[in-house]
Amino acid sequence: MLIRNTSVLSFHNLSIRENTDVCIKGCRIKRVGQNIEPCGEIIDGSGCYLIPGLVNLHSHTAMTLLRGVAEDVSVEDWFNKYIWMYEKNLTPHDVYVGTLLGAAEMLLSGVTFVADHYFYMGEAAKAYLDAGMRADLAWSVFGVGDDWEARYRQALNFTEEFMDHDPRITVSLGPHSLYLCPNDFLTTVVAKAEELELKLHIHISEEEGQVARSLNERGMTPIQALHKMEVLKKGTILAHAYYATDEDLQLIQESGAGVAHCAKTYMRFGDIHDFLPRALEAGVRCGLGSDGPASNSTMSIFEVARDAALLAKCSTRNPRAARIEQMMPLLCNGGEILGIEGYGTIEEGGLADLVLIRPDTPNMQPEHNIFANILYSLGAPNVDTVIVDGEVVVREGHLVKVDLSALYCEAAAAAERLTRAVSGTPMQTY
Ligand SMILES: [Zn+2]
Repeated sequence: MLIRNTSVLSFHNLSIRENTDVCIKGCRIKRVGQNIEPCGEIIDGSGCYLIPGLVNLHSHTAMTLLRGVAEDVSVEDWFNKYIWMYEKNLTPHDVYVGTLLGAAEMLLSGVTFVADHYFYMGEAAKAYLDAGMRADLAWSVFGVGDDWEARYRQALNFTEEFMDHDPRITVSLGPHSLYLCPNDFLTTVVAKAEELELKLHIHISEEEGQVARSLNERGMTPIQALHKMEVLKKGTILAHAYYATDEDLQLIQESGAGVAHCAKTYMRFGDIHDFLPRALEAGVRCGLGSDGPASNSTMSIFEVARDAALLAKCSTRNPRAARIEQMMPLLCNGGEILGIEGYGTIEEGGLADLVLIRPDTPNMQPEHNIFANILYSLGAPNVDTVIVDGEVVVREGHLVKVDLSALYCEAAAAAERLTRAVSGTPMQTY
């Protein structure tokens, strides 16, 4: 495949290579240069910008089915009165349908790679492969409740089945959080991850109260507890770490673990904090996450980046916080955090996860600074073509492999059944 005569953008040094051809062979970029001989299908990139595929570093994708069901409530009510009540109704097929809907939304907004942390992940894997998307999948497990052992076994069976299933799917272990995973359980999961050479994906220090409780009960911050249990290491995804102290940030930086920053979710709960500027200052490897659509509404990483920049400026009251050159790498940093060296740079030998942006819409004109336009102005209609693993999965703004009208009907039916009144207690308590 040849993408002809396009402008290649680097999010790492904010450079533009105009009139450039990119030749793709199989799943890799074979050549980047000028006047390259045609090789297979030709995609006309003139007037467009070629960027790396965006990475969503923390998601609960199938929660698309719960979009809009718990608005204007506290975190406690969000979990206990709504989400963990409805998730008692969740079936494997719901996860397939909700994940396919989320994958469709992500691909149409230029996201090619997602780290998904949810339940029934075999169904999620099927949905991502049907849509053509790359995903790292962690089956979310609790270490408490009557059936935790059976659920953990299910998660392990999934990892064994999908470890070498398809090049687009990788698997991780997903202990839910420190507050729902007692030390013994977490230590067992860490040992299992070591044995199977798998990464870990866990929620941590999401809000201020968790840190206070941990200091009270353990005499250490949640991040210090993870450090002690050897959860912090290269490849680990820490979802949020939003209330990491400066000492915590140092520990994270030294360990090489990555943090998924989900700015829109924090703002939805009215939680303004200066995590991102401090983490960037400390040299912590950060990426961006959408979290679930029940708290984030959308799955767009361009939107999360915009919110993250604004949150950083507001929380510090400093317009110099989260500058464009600091923000752009965050759009695709998650690839390297997830273990794909060089992800996010358009170079020979790199993975062919690419997005063509079409800037001929009013919101993107004029072009004083294309990077500013991308960060602060771009919308999903500007995403023209999306390539994952060398395959075109969005062409001229339309999904190649997903029938959206049939999907909307299935999603509506699943969402209605999922939110039918349920009695009793929630599946967990926050
Ligand atoms: Zn989450």
